[in-house]
Amino acid sequence: MRIESICVHGAKDPNNTTGAVAVPIYQSATYAHPGVGASTGYDYARVQNPTREPLERLVAALEGGNEAMAFSSGMAALDAAMGLFDPGDHIIATSDLYGGSVRLFSLLGERFGLKVGYMDTNDQALLRKSLTPKTKAVFVETPSNPMMNITDLRAVRETIGPDVCLVVDNTFLTPVLQRPLSLGADLVIHSGTKYLGGHNDTLSGFIVTNDHEKAEKLRFITKTVGTGLSPFDSFMVIRGLKTLHLRIRRSEENARALAAFLTSHPKVRKVRYPGLKGHPGHDVATRQADGYGAMISFEVDSEETAKAALERVSMILYAESLGGAETLITYPLLQTHAEVPEEARLALGINERLLRLSVGIEHLDDLIADLRQALA
Ligand SMILES: *Cc1c(COP(=O)(O)O)cnc(C)c1O
Repeated sequence: MRIESICVHGAKDPNNTTGAVAVPIYQSATYAHPGVGASTGYDYARVQNPTREPLERLVAALEGGNEAMAFSSGMAALDAAMGLFDPGDHIIATSDLYGGSVRLFSLLGERFGLKVGYMDTNDQALLRKSLTPKTKAVFVETPSNPMMNITDLRAVRETIGPDVCLVVDNTFLTPVLQRPLSLGADLVIHSGTKYLGGHNDTLSGFIVTNDHEKAEKLRFITKTVGTGLSPFDSFMVIRGLKTLHLRIRRSEENARALAAFLTSHPKVRKVRYPGLKGHPGHDVATRQADGYGAMISFEVDSEETAKAALERVSMILYAESLGGAETLITYPLLQTHAEVPEEARLALGINERLLRLSVGIEHLDDLIADLRQALA
């Protein structure tokens, strides 16, 4: 099946005797055994659940992977991935990462003994120079958050060789637009809270891999800790995924047009969107992905303009997060990247004039009208 059909038909309940078209919510914490030493395949919901399982198979199929695990949030997925490494291991990460990922790496990871270094992961010479025998993983966001920098994943794989684990956070593009496993990644991570769920109503996270040994370790971690996705939330994400391809295409169409609108706006100084020809990562993005996504960062002429825009938007919502039907505008300085140290933040370009848009599926004319009045 093509990806559009997988979205619609990829989650099937193997226990279905009623003909139910939707995968039911198996709201059961425990499962009765048919005999001593026998199991239906389900024992206890922390370990596995018949609503979560079809969702995991669906997400694995979308990413072109053999195995997927569904977590209670993107951060729970990232935390489980961190559990694959040992104290003393060195991890290299993209410098403008999701703020929560930085917090996880620096607060929990470093206390656990991981050494995390941040850099431009698209600078292959720098990356090569930074590899040590202790480097066990490279963690990439492409496009990055919020600067929309592009990392050439095939180039990273070539630079780091086959033994360093390449982890890609594919939240921004989704498998509809980018399939990192086919570009050399070992693990693909998602905040399913964003496009996969797609309606700003459910937290979830995923890890997809073709590496059975890593999958087993990850399953051991989630079954031990209990960070697997709940039956109800699994149902919500299955439901959201049915329209993933429609939503992401429509959001992207709107984003391309809004990027053009913003580029010509007199109060906008700079627009960061990989779909624009002048974006430094445009060619790589064109080569490795089937689209540029629907996230736009832009810098306005002053802090006053930025703050006024946040207060004046009417249909567009001033809220953090992304990837839902609703268009959201975010102020990275005070929201997603508030905890990044000032010096590092400014070096990345996250200043008081930077705004970020998660473009939704509304009518383009309404979006342009709202932005026009908000920036007036
Ligand atoms: C939101 C987000 C996360 C964290 O996911 P949660 O579901 O909020 O825990 C991780 N990475 C990226 C790129 C995100 O946007």
